[in-house]
Amino acid sequence: MSETEEKLAGLQAKLNKLAQEELAKGTPRDQIVQKVLEKLEPEERELVEHAASTSGGPQQCLFCSIASGKVPATTVYEDGNFIAFLDINPANSGHIVAIPKGHYQFLSELPDELDAAYMKLIKVLEAAAFQGVEAKGVNVLQNNGAAAGQRVPHIHFHIIPRFENDKISLDWEGKKMEPAQLEEIAKRIREKAAGQMKSAPKQVVVQEEKPTDKKPQKPTKEEQKELPRVRRRLP
Ligand SMILES: [Zn+2]
Repeated sequence: MSETEEKLAGLQAKLNKLAQEELAKGTPRDQIVQKVLEKLEPEERELVEHAASTSGGPQQCLFCSIASGKVPATTVYEDGNFIAFLDINPANSGHIVAIPKGHYQFLSELPDELDAAYMKLIKVLEAAAFQGVEAKGVNVLQNNGAAAGQRVPHIHFHIIPRFENDKISLDWEGKKMEPAQLEEIAKRIREKAAGQMKSAPKQVVVQEEKPTDKKPQKPTKEEQKELPRVRRRLP
């Protein structure tokens, strides 16, 4: 362990304590790192910022602290690779944040072997959000980079239940663009994407229902209970 690493290890306890204090005060999660940094001595701050810039930042990453249990969260799901918890400053009741436990900033950095499980978790949480708070809609949002509104540099999906007239705005004004411009931009993106999808499976064929002589059966009582819930989710 280098001298710098030793100093950093000592600092970690102080960082955790300060983060806990901010959390107890009700500081919004996305402001905790900044508040903690402000409380450090100039030399300590420099050390932390240097470590963050050279290591990718897990030492002071709020979501890493939640993943490791150092910072408490209201968990709704957890396994070896992922944890999902309620946002401490929710956009709406039932607003969930779902993260991989490993520290990666951009979605594209997630190891391929976690893709399917992460997508599955997001699907499950989307349905759970509908049912858990009887939402009328659910937004699934994922931001990459500060310019896109990513406040914590650790991959996360927001699962936000929506209700009629809930005053949440995700709207933008559509820009005017000529077909030739669209094609030019598409060409550049297509080239970057094509090589990355070589291992993708061939189109999955959805099994068609076999024709049957059986008369359609009445739904069971359990199915009847389920039907309105499913129907409610349709736009
Ligand atoms: Zn992290």
